[in-house]
Amino acid sequence: MNLITIFSLYPDQEACIEHLENVRWGDAPLCPHCGGFGVARKSEKHRIGRWNCRDCKSSFNVLSGTIFEKTKVPLQKWFLAVGLVINAKKSLSSYQLARDLELNQKTAWYMQQRIRAAMAAEQAPMLQGIVEADETYVGGKPRKGNKRDNDKPNKRGRGTKKTPVIGAVERGGRVAACVTDDLSGKGIVQFLKNTVDPAGTILITDEYKAYNAAKAS
Ligand SMILES: [Zn+2]
Repeated sequence: MNLITIFSLYPDQEACIEHLENVRWGDAPLCPHCGGFGVARKSEKHRIGRWNCRDCKSSFNVLSGTIFEKTKVPLQKWFLAVGLVINAKKSLSSYQLARDLELNQKTAWYMQQRIRAAMAAEQAPMLQGIVEADETYVGGKPRKGNKRDNDKPNKRGRGTKKTPVIGAVERGGRVAACVTDDLSGKGIVQFLKNTVDPAGTILITDEYKAYNAAKAS
């Protein structure tokens, strides 16, 4: 898409928000915090596109959890920046981007990092086939006898201070892993959603219930 098209299709903040809501939610907006559909649009003139969740009482907008989250830069500039970064034959300097969009260079650099990271994530192939998922702790396994939240004996060391890492391995090779603070069901499900292609994949995991949630979803 060229810049003139972006400029005319998304003339203002409202048009950009509307576009993102369509792409992300279609007809079924949902709360990014709890996944609930019990949401209602707020009518605040100064904060366009704000929603309330009746289930978890949080408020959010379509930018929550995206590269645009909490940005102060008008979304039209973001959209144009995405166009410029994608269309650039050689890599674009943050100074050039700053001049093109009337931003300061630090802001341009930050936007560029986020856009590139999102593009890279998009292109990373998902794991397929027989995939084994597990989490581990960098810095050694914890002592025996630590307890899990549910008080069952702790085999794998959840509930320690060491750095938790979730990993998924494809039978025969490729590996995906991430360091996480969140070894709750939600964190694990999100990681597997991002890295494992559900079509034709058999997910092998330990008995921990979060993985079962991921299989079911
Ligand atoms: Zn909610």
